[in-house]
Amino acid sequence: RDSKVHQNLLEDHSFINYKQNLENVDIVRKRLNRPLTYAEKILYGHLDDPHGQDIERGVSYLKLRPDRVACQDATAQMAILQFMSAGLPQVAKPVTVHCDHLIQAQVGGEKDLKRAIDLNKEVFDFLATSTAKYNMGFWKPGSGIIHQIVLENYAFPGALIIGTDSHTPNAGGLGQLAIGVGGADAVDVMSDLPWELKAPKILGVKLTGKMSGWTSPKDIILKLAGITTVKGGTGKIVEYYGDGVNTFSATGMGTICNMGAEIGATTSVFPFNHSMVDYLKATRRGEIADFAQLYNNDLLSADKGAEYDEVIEINLSELEPYVNGPFTPDLATPISKMKEVAVQNKWPLEVKVGLIGSCTNSSYEDMSRAASIAEDAASHGLKSKSLFTISPGSEQVRSTIARDGQLKTFQDFGGVVLANACGPCIGQWDRQDIKKGDKNTIVSSFNRNFTSRNDGNPETHSFVASPEITTALAIAGDLRFNPMTDKLKDKDGNEFMLKPPTGVGLPVKGYDQGVNTYQAPPAERSNVEVKVSPTSDRLQLLKPFDAWDGKDPVDLPILIKSLGKTTTDHISMAGPWLKYRGHLENISNNYMIGAINAENKKANCVKNFFTGEYAGVPDTAREYKKRGQKWVVVGGENFGEGSSREHAALEPRYLGAYAIITKSFARIHETNLKKQGLLPLTFGKPEDYDRINPDDLVDLVGVTDLAPGKPVTMRLKTKSGETWETPLNHTFNSEQIGWFKAGSALNMITQNKKS
Ligand code: SF4
Repeated sequence: RDSKVHQNLLEDHSFINYKQNLENVDIVRKRLNRPLTYAEKILYGHLDDPHGQDIERGVSYLKLRPDRVACQDATAQMAILQFMSAGLPQVAKPVTVHCDHLIQAQVGGEKDLKRAIDLNKEVFDFLATSTAKYNMGFWKPGSGIIHQIVLENYAFPGALIIGTDSHTPNAGGLGQLAIGVGGADAVDVMSDLPWELKAPKILGVKLTGKMSGWTSPKDIILKLAGITTVKGGTGKIVEYYGDGVNTFSATGMGTICNMGAEIGATTSVFPFNHSMVDYLKATRRGEIADFAQLYNNDLLSADKGAEYDEVIEINLSELEPYVNGPFTPDLATPISKMKEVAVQNKWPLEVKVGLIGSCTNSSYEDMSRAASIAEDAASHGLKSKSLFTISPGSEQVRSTIARDGQLKTFQDFGGVVLANACGPCIGQWDRQDIKKGDKNTIVSSFNRNFTSRNDGNPETHSFVASPEITTALAIAGDLRFNPMTDKLKDKDGNEFMLKPPTGVGLPVKGYDQGVNTYQAPPAERSNVEVKVSPTSDRLQLLKPFDAWDGKDPVDLPILIKSLGKTTTDHISMAGPWLKYRGHLENISNNYMIGAINAENKKANCVKNFFTGEYAGVPDTAREYKKRGQKWVVVGGENFGEGSSREHAALEPRYLGAYAIITKSFARIHETNLKKQGLLPLTFGKPEDYDRINPDDLVDLVGVTDLAPGKPVTMRLKTKSGETWETPLNHTFNSEQIGWFKAGSALNMITQNKKS
């Protein structure tokens, strides 16, 4: 148990820390004096301070030390730019970057990949050179989807990783806690700061029985989503247990954990078991499997008598396939009811396109089982009636199914093999078979099906199902088809029924790794030049923000007093702006353009305090910045709810904000503001929000004495010459006050490294 075992085959500097993790778990178990769930063991095993940390599920904020970080190409840009601005020579923890989100599906794999590489050259060049410079692993375009690559190469039982993508939890299929975060959290871990997470509650899902026939692991999570709804997992880790967990593959468990994101769960996890051993061995990591087995009883399983905050039980023997949707993944319909439900709801019955693969369902097993159905259809002279696409999750899977024949089966069946990338799952799909606005149905084995997600058409009714059911529905071309009871007609008009899918979990001949798409960081990195063109409109190096000037600010104008809900989407819109994620100056042109101005009830229309003219919010902020004038924003309840997008905090800082003053904050946004050197403050008397006029000027009294728990005073000077005051609270601790004074958390890290 004392061996030094590498975390993976690609890095020689990262080792598995079971011994330390177990010591931490023992400390915490003694303190709490109760048995622990498996998820708790992983979390507490990674505590920064197991002796002193407050631990109450659903209440405390845990400071954690994750084992590694994974970033996808869209979110990595700003995370790395921020990391670079701290001036550190290399990342503190192992980090990998994966090029998968920026590849559009148009005509098929190779051509699409080539076009995407041309189109996104500057972004890929930046990622390739910055990862090399700062000692990160880089997975080139064409390598596959982040979560599949992590499962194949980096995930191991008992690990804690964070990833800048919502479906990071996929790696729970190999018994690790893998949590999706925003870029700011990734930067913390890259820079050696502890990472903070509210101690999740634990939702236990007990699986009993065994699946058979057309039912697959995807149906477990589709059913669970129907039970919990899209909000049911919020603030919770889903931990699976019971005899049923030992009846299917590790990649199947990955599918289930992946879609835990659809019920809002922090993450999902399966305890270490024999399927994980098989998968680790098949992916050339037998040493890790052997090492994990030594820690199975005390670290890599739940304690006897461990208690869950809630329990849901699913009997796999009774489970039938589900088709969830349209427009939301929790609208769960068992396949036996779909005929009735689809007609009642007037959903378009013709299945226009069937799409399999994606990070959710592109294992060798998924591909083999789907191919067995396509083959069966072919033996009756049938092809797919619907258009059919395959998105392999990784080069390894693509290459293995090319060798073993499933790929050819799909092509003969009429399928188009897309690049090893996200493609239609994230709307990177140049769909040609319908016009925008046409009402139509598509079925995929993906995870999300919100309005417009796949093809930008709000009239597309998108359903999610297993790859097996997706393939069967594509053969029938009809949403009402139930392969367990309905017959099809073969090429001569004779009736037949599709055989239930078959296929092994792991390739008998082993995986074929295909083209090598990994770039390891070079040993000598000092000469590597990070490529950022000064004329680029997509990438811009970040300059450290100025330190605080040491004074209480006076006469700050209110840029906007926002009315009602102000989410991170209102603060920093997504959609077309995603293109500018690596360019702070350009993306700042979306600052608060979705928020409603309390004065005139309009979006993106505020009065310039100095000129009296109305203009857009970012334009007005830029005018103030030009004058060297700092400003504040006033907002309502739960300001900044939604995503953990760090741009919502970087943009106001860049445009010259001093403080954001609200009735209350969404916690992650509040922390993000603090990290960027801003003052998030809340009204001591929330009703005073109503007294504030956007024409008032604001003094903040007591910033010079900022201390934990000590309020600041807001002095308002009205246009008519009156002055009144109101107390403002804050949640800064002493370390965070240091961030504010230094100008940002990263500035503080730089200062500390220098001193
Ligand atoms: Fe996200 Fe879809 Fe890509 Fe998976 S395949 S990482 S869900 S965009």
